Amino acid sequence: MANNTIIQFKNVTKQFDQDSLVLDHVSFEIERGKFYTLLGPSGCGKTTILRLIAGFTEPTTGDIFFNEKKFNDIPANKRQVNTVFQDYALFPHLNVYENVAFGLRIKKLKNSEIDSKVKEALSFVNLKGFEQREIREMSGGQRQRVAIARAIVNEPEVILLDEPLSALDLKLRTEMQYELRELQRRLGITFIFVTHDQEEALAMSDEIFVIHEGKIQQSGTPIDIYDEPINRFVADFIGESNIVSGKMKQDFLVEFVGKEFDCVDGGFNKNELVEIVIRPEDLEITSLEQGKLQVRVDSQLFRGVHYEICCYDKDGNEWLVHSTKKAEVGAEIGLYFDPESIHVMRLGETEEEFDRRLEIYADGERHGE
Ligand code: ATP
Repeated sequence: MANNTIIQFKNVTKQFDQDSLVLDHVSFEIERGKFYTLLGPSGCGKTTILRLIAGFTEPTTGDIFFNEKKFNDIPANKRQVNTVFQDYALFPHLNVYENVAFGLRIKKLKNSEIDSKVKEALSFVNLKGFEQREIREMSGGQRQRVAIARAIVNEPEVILLDEPLSALDLKLRTEMQYELRELQRRLGITFIFVTHDQEEALAMSDEIFVIHEGKIQQSGTPIDIYDEPINRFVADFIGESNIVSGKMKQDFLVEFVGKEFDCVDGGFNKNELVEIVIRPEDLEITSLEQGKLQVRVDSQLFRGVHYEICCYDKDGNEWLVHSTKKAEVGAEIGLYFDPESIHVMRLGETEEEFDRRLEIYADGERHGE
């Protein structure tokens, strides 16, 4: 366990009914003071992980550690953890001040102590002066901040946030993303945030865990996960991708759509079957002759900052292009990409195998320089 680890899951499974595992041998470590996001489609098990950390449910097998101590049987109210729920779960009959003070009153703190803590928490979330407001007089974004103040006033070591921005409109949601991120930095508390929105996860997190069918598919920084997705699921879920089947002819040479291309990937067997990812923004429109791929433009949409152009090659593979250049529907065009833009994925590779291969390969590359 790393020195800075605050939470550790070791081989945790969760089963509600006999034949389905909601969490399938999940292991991970959470470091103190970072912003983590659990990202995945609906039903993948994100909320179950949060509930296990909060103590609202117990693992079927496996262990959870908090500050190196086994945590499985510690009741929820004894954990140094607070949750901000999707609907904020504020008390409508109490004003802002009393909502934030609620937990402290239960702990029977002195009034003067409660007062200074509540005021400090409200000022942290920029709600100074709103103490006497009723909850129904607060906007969605302000309610969100009351919920956060209510969590931080208890000075927890970890704050769990279960899709807390999903009820907000797009503009407010973006503002709150900045605010939450900034607040986490100022507080230095570990945040574990749940979302199914990949853009939100990329924008906010130090580390992302991509979850699918009860398993962590990949964990890493937003850039790692975007640039080096481990498998088709992650590549598809994080950003838009062109994914085709291919064959690794040898290190640095891959074949797909019937052609060979230079690439920067290594560590594969000769002629190993692989999957190839190229991001739409890495494809450049050229003349037919200059392109590495030849495609026909099928449709085009203007997306504000770029055109989203959908093309097909002669084998019927779809190629999505994001370009500031316009194309003409029906035209035959070329697509150019750098060797670095080709990302090669090994079929069925686990995260450990993937990390090891990248490490060995990066070492090899450095020695080769
Ligand atoms: P969402 O984004 O929709 O909230 P999620 O990734 O948070 O999804 P979970 O809430 O963790 O998913 O649920 C994972 C699976 O476990 C789902 O199939 C869900 O139906 C099931 N599940 C969760 N809680 C229970 C329960 N108490 N009893 C039975 N099944 C449950």
